[in-house]
Amino acid sequence: MTTETVIELGRRVLMNTYGRLPVAPVRGQGSRLWDADGREYLDFVSGLAANALGHCHPAVVEAVREQAGRLLHVSNLYHIAPQAELAAWLVERSFADRAFFCNSGAEAVEGALKLARKRAWRRARAAGKAPDAVAGPDTSAGSRAPFEVIAFHKSFHGRTYGALSATGQPRYHQGFEPLLPGIRLVPYGDLDAVARAASPATCAVLVEPVQGEGGLNVPPPGFLPGLRAMCDRHGWTLVFDEIQCGLGRTGRLFCHQHFGVEPDVMTLAKALGGGVAIGAVLAREDVAAAFEPGDHASTFGGNPLACAAALATLRVIEAETLPERAARLGAYLSDALRALARTVPGATIEFRGLGLLQGVRLAFPGAPVVQACLERGLLVNCTDTDVLRLLPPLVVTEAEIDRALEILEASLVAVTAALPA
Ligand SMILES: *Cc1c(COP(=O)(O)O)cnc(C)c1O
Repeated sequence: MTTETVIELGRRVLMNTYGRLPVAPVRGQGSRLWDADGREYLDFVSGLAANALGHCHPAVVEAVREQAGRLLHVSNLYHIAPQAELAAWLVERSFADRAFFCNSGAEAVEGALKLARKRAWRRARAAGKAPDAVAGPDTSAGSRAPFEVIAFHKSFHGRTYGALSATGQPRYHQGFEPLLPGIRLVPYGDLDAVARAASPATCAVLVEPVQGEGGLNVPPPGFLPGLRAMCDRHGWTLVFDEIQCGLGRTGRLFCHQHFGVEPDVMTLAKALGGGVAIGAVLAREDVAAAFEPGDHASTFGGNPLACAAALATLRVIEAETLPERAARLGAYLSDALRALARTVPGATIEFRGLGLLQGVRLAFPGAPVVQACLERGLLVNCTDTDVLRLLPPLVVTEAEIDRALEILEASLVAVTAALPA
């Protein structure tokens, strides 16, 4: 099929949920992609941060081939060796003692929300209180759920109902109400707003250590430690959503390691499978203990194929010290982006991000820049309307960054020249 026939077919038979760019990739290697017409692209989107090792890393391809020929799926009625090994790898290197596996980021967030609520429910029950006895005063008005979660404006946690309800972006909510009750959304970085939103019903805080979709927002100093202190004081569960910022991209294996705080629960997905769908909920022992057999489940969660891919991915991330590489090349990329402020004056407003999770707030909407880059063979993404987001694979080279920045500069020059005076 050519690009045109792929686009035409999809237009007729797929639900119209995505604003897709006119490219139909068919093959990839490292930082490069080729489309159905044989055109080559430098890929600085990396499957929205999922392809941390670039396309078709040989270790992941080999692990998938080997596992596919042995056993694809059995369900969690049985014990699954790669699942247990994957959990062991993760808990040995994190604050967590236990893992639950699912198939996507949104599902991991759902699992984390359920775990936090179940933990609060068990505590309330142990204290001899019926769940509604811990609710706020206005339960009868229906505005207070027995166990509330505080989440943040400009967050992104996924599109299923719980995750969507915790996503602080009203445009994603429109037309889908009523959402899950008991989620309080407050400004990111604002500890006072968290204190004001808190009630006796509060049971958890859900936060991205660095916000991804919301525009690469790095937390102000003291914000995450402040949340940790509040959670400790009140017995709330602190959940870090590291689905986008985790697993090396920001320069540490886990993003929260930059900030000297540990969560009680953490969600992972995106990069975890090296391109294969998988999500995870990690928790400390005393928190994980809130789940008992029957409380949560997923038919495909932690299947042998996805876990084998994830194990291979994590072993490469560690063996090739990719978090350190992300820190080093992230600094290189960040410097190169800042140079654009001089070479294309007036185009850029602000630089943000950490490691290889980098963004530039433009002085105009980003869509034409994405299009101009595409025409010149570079894939980049725009988020929050005017934030150009660069998510190269962690294996990207300096030469590839140089090439990407040449294309970006030419694209910004072209778009700026075409702007109305
Ligand atoms: C992408 C993302 C999700 C949702 O992941 P899906 O796999 O698309 O469901 C959740 N949280 C964060 C921070 C994300 O970036």
